[in-house]
Amino acid sequence: MSMDHSISNETKSRWPGGARAVIAVTVHMDGPAVEQGRKQNGLGMYSKGRYSARCGVPRHLEILARHGISATFFMCGYDAERYPDLMRDVHGAGHEIAAHGYQHEGFDLGDQEPALLERTHAILSDCVGEAPVGWCSPSGRKSTLTLPTLRRLGYCYDASEKDDDLPYLANIDGRVADDFIILPNNTISLDDAPLFTNGQATAAEAYDNWIEELHALVQTDGYVHFTVHPRAGYGSGTPARAAAFDRFLETAKTVPGLKFVKLNELANHCLKRPELWREPRA
Ligand SMILES: [Zn+2]
Repeated sequence: MSMDHSISNETKSRWPGGARAVIAVTVHMDGPAVEQGRKQNGLGMYSKGRYSARCGVPRHLEILARHGISATFFMCGYDAERYPDLMRDVHGAGHEIAAHGYQHEGFDLGDQEPALLERTHAILSDCVGEAPVGWCSPSGRKSTLTLPTLRRLGYCYDASEKDDDLPYLANIDGRVADDFIILPNNTISLDDAPLFTNGQATAAEAYDNWIEELHALVQTDGYVHFTVHPRAGYGSGTPARAAAFDRFLETAKTVPGLKFVKLNELANHCLKRPELWREPRA
């Protein structure tokens, strides 16, 4: 499986600004929308999403600001309804607001999906005064209705797939789209959730794993898509884990030729020359 990896001349780069490699930091807020979507009561063990709004997102905003890094924040419509000021804080700090379900629907939605995508799209657009152009499915669930609906709403990228090391043009309704790019997101190796779900990794172990992945990806195709969740429980909102995130960014900033990008910037860059991102797979 390979794509057009033919840009091997060191004087050329497939990435914005002629960078050797790019890193997109994506923050999945995963607030109380997660528990609400699971019909949990938000109390006690079901309050971990609320931590994201109260502590985790502000902590991650401070870390990103200190490093001068702009990120992409995937937000649920329900969380935007509950915390509109927080959404505007994130947007006002220069980060991208992208869509992540209404109540983090981690199940197959069937015919309900277009209406829920439209609902969250309207909530986020109204909340921050700018329409999202990117989406990442909660828990990775998609259907055949997902991409046609997103494109109709004006989206240009999806960050849900786990099937490639590089971006590639989407296939929508049986045709390769020149106006919609898949920005794959490997949610095992460069994500906090699988490491922290049951407390099975320490923050130091997570850091070591992320650094190993970072250096390997920079050496190969140069696309690094790194995801954190500011919640308690499976996320990195708590202090020691947030400190590992902080140290990871500090190290990433020292990698020669590695450029930080928001996903909307990366999508726009790719779609300026769609022929470079067309899949050659049979
Ligand atoms: Zn999520």
